Amino acid sequence: MSAQLALFAEAPAPKKTRLRRVHPSVPEVPATTIPSALLRAADWILLNSSGGKDSQAMASHVCALAAKLGLLHRIVVVHADLGDIEWANTRKLAEEQARRLGVRFEVVKAEGGDLLARTVARFFKLKAKAETEAREQGLDPAAAKVAPAWPSSSARWCTSDLKRGPIRKLMTRLVNERGDLGRPVRILNCLGQRAAESAPRAKLAAVEIDRPASNGKRHVTTWRPVHGWSDVEVWKEIARSGLPYHEAYDWGMSRLSCSFCVLGCEADVVLAARLRPKKADEFVAVEKKVGADFKHGLSMAQIIERARALDAEHGELQRPPHGTALSRYVGKKATREYLARVERGRLDLAA
Ligand code: SF4
Repeated sequence: MSAQLALFAEAPAPKKTRLRRVHPSVPEVPATTIPSALLRAADWILLNSSGGKDSQAMASHVCALAAKLGLLHRIVVVHADLGDIEWANTRKLAEEQARRLGVRFEVVKAEGGDLLARTVARFFKLKAKAETEAREQGLDPAAAKVAPAWPSSSARWCTSDLKRGPIRKLMTRLVNERGDLGRPVRILNCLGQRAAESAPRAKLAAVEIDRPASNGKRHVTTWRPVHGWSDVEVWKEIARSGLPYHEAYDWGMSRLSCSFCVLGCEADVVLAARLRPKKADEFVAVEKKVGADFKHGLSMAQIIERARALDAEHGELQRPPHGTALSRYVGKKATREYLARVERGRLDLAA
């Protein structure tokens, strides 16, 4: 056998990859970016709700538009339940918001553990891989460098595993509910992402075709209805809607979702460590197990140190009055009116 043929003979069989077939009618670019046309064209209008202020404002804004068009029956609010990593009552709040909006609510949850359990599992997988590669290269497996297990801005597996994947399963369910239309079911997938949040988000289009989520049976269009909105516009929409918002904002958090987000700013994670010290300790235990800091260049152990220093200096945090966050943007009078509206239709979220 020639050296060249021998090379081919030894080469591992190529991995079988399943080709995703997107229906030929799914275009490369959206046919329209006009909100009313997007809503009318959709068989399902899926509102992704983390329970946070941006998705809340997006949901009430889209529901108001859909109500004018008589399309509320096509709306489904979906919340990806992240388990105990979320702030308390986030799922109940998302459900309550959907109930008040008069639209269907669905919860999805990833199988196989929360963010911490997944980080540990991922670490052992990466470690085994690094050791195998080292052995193959005749190197000491004990000295093999293991790739980071924590999610990060460049490896945001938390979003794909815990949110995007389970939401795509719901899309499959919704498509089956529609039955055979003789064409792909059109899903308008609405996200609360805003340009003002970060440079990568600023680059996102307000409307785009989601080809990875589309297939032979569904045509998914992503719409970011509040992409160009400022913080003030978001809070004004919350005041307008009269929907309850999460109390973590009153405590001073700038974002919701995971209470300790790998992408969160330092002020947020330190505040979260003051409010959830036991959960912070769990992160420290995982940091030890995987031998890496939770955030690039900032360990949970350091975060806890800073949180304790603040507690020592200012005393334990005291519960702020309801409406603290909102009043910064809309003033005290509008906040009082908002709180009265929330109260009138209030459910006990702590129940
Ligand atoms: S909130 Fe942060 S940590 Fe949680 S899933 Fe999103 S990016 Fe990941």
